[in-house]
Amino acid sequence: MEKDRIIEDLEQKLQDKEKEMDDLVQKNNYLSEEYRYLSEDLQPLYGRVAELEADKEEASEKIRALLATRPTGPDADLAPKPSVNSSQLLQVGTLIRDLNIANKSLRSTVKHMFSEMGHQMEQLLKAALRMKEAQQNSTTDFEELRSLYRREAMERKALYNKLQELCGNIRVFCRCRGDSAADTCLDVPSDEEVIVNQKGSKKTFFFDKVYPSSATQEEVFNEARAIITSCVDGYNVCILAYGQTGSGKTYTMMGPKGNPGVNIRSIRELLHICKQRETITYVLKISMLEIYNESLNDLLALNQTSQLEIQTRGKAVTVHGLTQIEVNTEDDILNIVELGEQNRTTASTKINIESSRSHLIVTLHVDGTDSASGVTSHGSLMLCDLAGSERISKTEATGQRLVEAAAINKSLTSLGQVFSALKCNALHVPFRNSKLTRLLQPSLSGDAKACVFLNVSPDMNNLAETLSTLQFGSSIRQVELGRATQHTSPGRDTQ
Ligand code: ADP
Ligand code: MG
Repeated sequence: MEKDRIIEDLEQKLQDKEKEMDDLVQKNNYLSEEYRYLSEDLQPLYGRVAELEADKEEASEKIRALLATRPTGPDADLAPKPSVNSSQLLQVGTLIRDLNIANKSLRSTVKHMFSEMGHQMEQLLKAALRMKEAQQNSTTDFEELRSLYRREAMERKALYNKLQELCGNIRVFCRCRGDSAADTCLDVPSDEEVIVNQKGSKKTFFFDKVYPSSATQEEVFNEARAIITSCVDGYNVCILAYGQTGSGKTYTMMGPKGNPGVNIRSIRELLHICKQRETITYVLKISMLEIYNESLNDLLALNQTSQLEIQTRGKAVTVHGLTQIEVNTEDDILNIVELGEQNRTTASTKINIESSRSHLIVTLHVDGTDSASGVTSHGSLMLCDLAGSERISKTEATGQRLVEAAAINKSLTSLGQVFSALKCNALHVPFRNSKLTRLLQPSLSGDAKACVFLNVSPDMNNLAETLSTLQFGSSIRQVELGRATQHTSPGRDTQ
């Protein structure tokens, strides 16, 4: 039994040993396997180690070489060191500080500029306001300038007027007829005196200007030129030709076609002056009428139906119904004047009258508007070729001739009376005594200017009439000399 038990025990032990053996065999297998795997992994590691060994060797070699080149001794510290040192750090620090300062200053500059811009904007706004004010002021300035200009224009006009007054508002010129026969009774020693030789005795007359027979149309016109200019400035001007029939009135006023007289030259001059004055717009209108036997004939009317009437409103005198034609060019003047002359001839032939028995009045109305000042001016120029001033003989004084003579006498006498009244500064000037003086009233009162041509014949045969004409002229001249401003204020004592 014991033995069995021991065998059994031994058998158990054997069994355990066998199991342990199996485990160990299995473990060995596993470890062998592991070893194989690890051996496989180890191979590249060995290669890597070898490479590293080689690198290490190379690096050691380099270090050795570097150490060999490193300077030794006391100067070794001064040698440049590859790494960042404290001075560089200091520099970087300074740089950063500088940059900070620069940044700060930039900020303050920007701030300053912003405030400067704000200030400038303010200034700009103020300037804009000032400009606006200035613009308003300049409008006022412009207005002031305009009124100054207006005043200047008025003053210029007044000065011109004064000058004319000094020269005389009524100027008297004497013209001796040209183409005269050898036997002459006239002598012109200077351009201001004319001597009439009368059977041994001599009579001298003085005028503003005396033209000898040789004087040209242009020379004669030149003297009237200055007076005509004032018509453009708004004055009433009249030019009269006075003298006996055949003394050269028509020649002086109208003149032959190729050598025109005062009429054409005046209108031509007016057109010229008007065109020259760029700031003023002028409108020139012409009318032509004849006074025959105290009745008016419109010489520019196509069909004259009704009688023309003189209307006086204040200082203005108009002829109601009288044709007025605008003139712009010299051709206009010539055509219109020719039409008037034709009408005059046709009408006078019809009723058998001579042109020397009627007064011819060519009137030019000059209306100007100054675009700068707005001032308007209304001037007129009356050009009168008067009827012959001769007295008719007693034998002729019958029928139509007597009526004509009476009418002429009435108007020329009225003209003389008007001048006399003006001369003695009379309160009443008898303008209303004839159609002629009624029409001439605006040109013989106020600040009007008149110019009288005394036409005289140098023929001995006409001596009496020549003397009469020169005497008439002398009396007018006294008017001019005695009174320079009486026309403007007839009631005032200027002596
Ligand atoms: P009025 O009109 O006074 O009756 P006119 O002008 O008809 O006189 O002149 C009479 C004549 O004398 C005309 O034949 C005219 O041509 C001539 N005549 C007048 N004045 C001159 C002059 N200055 N030069 C040349 N001829 C003139
Ligand atoms: Mg005539």
